[in-house]
Amino acid sequence: MPQAGLLHLLADSIGFGMIVAVFPVIFFIFMTYRMYLKNVEMSIRQAEQAEQYARILEDQSGALRESEERFRSAFNHAPIGIALVSASGTWLKVNHALCGILGYSEEELVGNDFQELIFKDDLGDTLVKIQELLSGKAASCQMEQRYLHRSGRTVWASWSVSAASEVRSNIPNLIFQLQDITDKKIAEEKLQHEATHDGLTGLPNRKHFMARLSEALDSARINPNYRVSVLFIDLDRFKFVNDSLGHLVGDQLLMRISERLRECLRPSDIVARLGGDEFTILVAGNYESDEVIRIAERIQEKFSIPFDLDGHEVFSSASIGILHASPNHASAEEMMRDADTAMYQAKRSGKARHEVFDEQMHLAARETLQIETDLRRSIENNEIYLTYQPIFSLETGRMSGVEALTRWRHPKLGEISPDRFIAIAEEIGLIGSLGEYILRQACSETVHLINAMTPETRFELSVNLSCRQFGRPDLVSEITRTLRDTRFPEGALRLEITESIFFEYQEKATEMLSEVSGLGIRIDIDDFGTGYSNLGYLIKLPISRLKIDRSFVQPIDKDGNNTGIVRTVLSLARNLGLTAVAEGIEHDHQAAALKEMGCDSGQGYYFARPMPIDELKRYIAELEGNDFLHIPMGEIPVVETLQ
Ligand code: C2E
Ligand code: CA
Ligand code: CA
Repeated sequence: MPQAGLLHLLADSIGFGMIVAVFPVIFFIFMTYRMYLKNVEMSIRQAEQAEQYARILEDQSGALRESEERFRSAFNHAPIGIALVSASGTWLKVNHALCGILGYSEEELVGNDFQELIFKDDLGDTLVKIQELLSGKAASCQMEQRYLHRSGRTVWASWSVSAASEVRSNIPNLIFQLQDITDKKIAEEKLQHEATHDGLTGLPNRKHFMARLSEALDSARINPNYRVSVLFIDLDRFKFVNDSLGHLVGDQLLMRISERLRECLRPSDIVARLGGDEFTILVAGNYESDEVIRIAERIQEKFSIPFDLDGHEVFSSASIGILHASPNHASAEEMMRDADTAMYQAKRSGKARHEVFDEQMHLAARETLQIETDLRRSIENNEIYLTYQPIFSLETGRMSGVEALTRWRHPKLGEISPDRFIAIAEEIGLIGSLGEYILRQACSETVHLINAMTPETRFELSVNLSCRQFGRPDLVSEITRTLRDTRFPEGALRLEITESIFFEYQEKATEMLSEVSGLGIRIDIDDFGTGYSNLGYLIKLPISRLKIDRSFVQPIDKDGNNTGIVRTVLSLARNLGLTAVAEGIEHDHQAAALKEMGCDSGQGYYFARPMPIDELKRYIAELEGNDFLHIPMGEIPVVETLQ
């Protein structure tokens, strides 16, 4: 080692004793020097390290600055709105996107309360969520909420918020992230609106109405003072408007009607279009039953004013069923069923009116259902039979014809009026086969009787045809087949149809009736004067006789008053070269007045009631035996009798 070598050299030159004496001093100097060297070495290393640290530190603070800048830039230019909000709700920092979403500048927002821009309705939920966050119950939360844009419009935002721990305080700040979802919301709302509203009128649709009705029913269950009522509105004869003026005018009418319906409501009521020409109104809350009746009355009043549609003046009326919910109504569907029943009742009682549902109606509706089922089997069960009501010539006093009137003897319900079951047969699509059966039965029952008469005494058979039978394309060939099969002379058959056929079937009816008349069958217009006032069809069609409705005959009193309408119909018939028959003659003075006015024929209880075929045979035999003189014609001189 170099120190030992140096000591040896020293011992050689100055002697060992001297060495021993000075050694401690030398050793001390030597050690001090060595320490000095070490210190110098350490300081150099420390200086080097410090320099290294300083470099690292410098590097690091640069990186920090850079990342802070990057963060700030990311914050400022983030595509979603970001804000730092104090726990008390003050905007602390906001980025560009957030300013853009809300329409305010950074200066306008920072320092203000974020609650001012939130929709009042959404504020409650928002504050609850923030509270959960601040109390540490949740780490973050999300919701969709509405803000008020500076321009006043609504901004829908998807809002997500988390707590940002604040170093100097134990109350955290909040980091808001806001995404503008207004477009998505508008698209969603549009879809939702389309799914729950009617495209034509913009009214709520059936789905929407049923949901609201269910909600109302739920409220009524909880609160005994909460009431629920439904008005079921069905337009009368809407189909005629559609068929005669076209679908565009029909659509216009529906739109106008929906406007008028809206005008009849209280602000809390809802009107919906169920489809076609059916509308419903929901009335819910605390109100008197009379208020609902008043709504129905207002609707009827509104309908009394004609609608001007593209220059066409159109009258419309509505049948309204009213239902007040009872504890028996378990569902919205049940309520609608009963409101519908009440509406049908209003239709059957003459249309353009309202009826309030009662339990009796429910039973009647069940009976109708039973009738519908039983009617299908009535023909094969031989329950349908015909009666014949004689028709007399007022001029000659002789029986000139019989009208076949259908009867149904129901095994349980007894005799059911044709006024009731014919309408049901029409509704359930059974009128075609029923009508065919009636014609065949009438022809085959009377053919021998008619053929047995002399040409002078021969009478005609009148059979009623429902307007709906014209919906069958093979009606004419069916009639031809029936005449052939029963060998019935076509010249002795008259078919009675009502005016409505021209509005329901128009061109098709004209075509079919021309074919029928081409077969030699005559066509009479039944219940004339009760339908439409547009008489253009009378000229177009092969009609031979008008039947004056009994509602015009019955008011004719002993003094010959109330004959105005009858006179008008008679002169119309004369001008058109048609004959006329009056129905519903119950008194001799009516028969006399009609004869005096020049009405060709008459029919009514005064002469004879409808009777089954066997009774008709006896009746005719009796007439023949009595020389027909017994026919009670009052003061009317019986000019000619059946030989
Ligand atoms: P409608 O064709 O107008 O028939 C005349 C109705 O008046 C018959 O009623 C008849 O019994 C009744 N009547 C006759 N004379 C008098 C009278 O002096 N006073 C009163 N108050 N009534 C009188 P009914 O038989 O109940 O028939 C009612 C309606 O049912 C008929 O009215 C007709 O529209 C329909 N109907 C009857 N049978 C048939 C049928 O075979 N086919 C079709 N499609 N409808 C029928
Ligand atoms: Ca008739
Ligand atoms: Ca009639």
